[in-house]
Amino acid sequence: MTQPKISKSRISQKSLRLTESVIREMSREAAKYDAVNLGQGFPDFAAPFNIKEKAIEAIAADHNQYAITWGVKSFRDAIAAKTKRFLGLDIDPEAEITVTCGSTEGMIAGMMACIDEGEEVVLFEPFYENYAPDVILSDAKPVHVPLYQTAEGNWYFEKDELRAAFNDRTKAIIICTPNNPTGKVFSRDEMEFIADLCKEFDALCFTDEIYEHIIYRGEREDGQMTMATNNLQHICMAQIDGMQERTVVVNSLSKTYSVTGWRVGYVIAPPDITNAVRKIHDFLTVGAANPLQHAGAYALSLPNSYYKELQKEYQLKRDFIVPVLQDAGFKCGAPEGAYYVMTDVSDFGFANDVEFTKYMIREIGVAVVPGSSFYHDKSLGSQKVRFCFCKKDETLQAAAERLQKLKKG
Ligand code: GLN
Repeated sequence: MTQPKISKSRISQKSLRLTESVIREMSREAAKYDAVNLGQGFPDFAAPFNIKEKAIEAIAADHNQYAITWGVKSFRDAIAAKTKRFLGLDIDPEAEITVTCGSTEGMIAGMMACIDEGEEVVLFEPFYENYAPDVILSDAKPVHVPLYQTAEGNWYFEKDELRAAFNDRTKAIIICTPNNPTGKVFSRDEMEFIADLCKEFDALCFTDEIYEHIIYRGEREDGQMTMATNNLQHICMAQIDGMQERTVVVNSLSKTYSVTGWRVGYVIAPPDITNAVRKIHDFLTVGAANPLQHAGAYALSLPNSYYKELQKEYQLKRDFIVPVLQDAGFKCGAPEGAYYVMTDVSDFGFANDVEFTKYMIREIGVAVVPGSSFYHDKSLGSQKVRFCFCKKDETLQAAAERLQKLKKG
């Protein structure tokens, strides 16, 4: 038999530039070594019963064919109503909302809708690892701006450095607040500074808001002060004066309603951008799961008490895990929002984060995500690992017991 002649590269240059997701790989490694998985950020506890029931009802009621490409009307109406309730913004569900397969698709569809080859996109570093492939897939040129940490572990950027990253080729900046992986909640002053740059350089802002309700206050329900003492508030870039018309909000049911496997997200953007996002979304996926959008309409109409409870639960988990990590030898502050802790592991004396992560998974039995996967300059994350704490109390307890082993020897 003659060998088939293969003279062309069968693999595209774009896909050759992508590396496999380290976050997802860590979940596979955790399963292989039976490690407690504090790597990938998904809850291991049950999703809210009522929301699941609505999904089952929607399937039984035969919402099983394609939904309207840009989303079930009742779900888009619920998104508009919730956005008005929490952010005070008026959004037209007919012209400014696209329902997507998770915020993952929302971000890439948004970027592909807006960005042309070679246009620059500003990214804070460390960043959630998907943004790097998003930049590649949308042919953008990334411009990285570092986030630094104070001695107390709070993250900040240098305004001069951010300003220097903007120029005439800047098409957009990507922000994520509350932030994955740092837990930073951008302040009003920081948001206004970013907004002013967007206006000055005629740039868009893509904002990943999936942790909007996971934010820590200074005081707990029981009156005890917690580790963060300033009263933090989530600010959406579209709320800043003059920014709604240049902001693409990416959000999802995943984290707020603990249904990461449903893959239901949404993009809120001005009508011209929404029009383009809907086309990209249509040809990529046709649409997100119809019955789950019906359940989503219910989820988004839950009363404010649901969000208070969510916040309280995560605050207790944060206040449990941070001292455990510090006691085991990790250097970290308490995150202001989201459900991750980015830690410094330099005191453990490992060559790099990947070696340390292997040791953690195989010898200690706790899976984490190597810090370098959140940096384009891998050396910046080489002494860092990220923990997530969106887990049952017993999972966190089991991790705490295993982490004790780090202190021996
Ligand atoms: N956002 C979560 C994380 O950072 C999960 C990401 C994913 O795997 N889709 O871990």
